[in-house]
Amino acid sequence: MNQCPFCLTELSPKDSTCSDCQAKKGYFQIDQFVLGKTLMIIFGIIAPLYFAFLGLAAQNPFGLGVCLFMLFPVLFTGLKLMIGRKWYKLV
Ligand SMILES: [Zn+2]
Repeated sequence: MNQCPFCLTELSPKDSTCSDCQAKKGYFQIDQFVLGKTLMIIFGIIAPLYFAFLGLAAQNPFGLGVCLFMLFPVLFTGLKLMIGRKWYKLV
């Protein structure tokens, strides 16, 4: 579908921003910012794995809890990357 879902403007398949209403294509939205693949991998996989590693290295129950908790953002990000990009309307 090469059409903006919000204003129905025809777009090229490689467009990641709507030329008309400025909607953005990406994996996840934080406030006015839509994350592309690189940022998703950095914030959703590399950063949580780093904290998970620190948790494991602490070798105590709290560290283990942190480690297990960090699996959620990694799974969430993996799922988002598998589903693919979608359009986000910035208000
Ligand atoms: Zn649009």
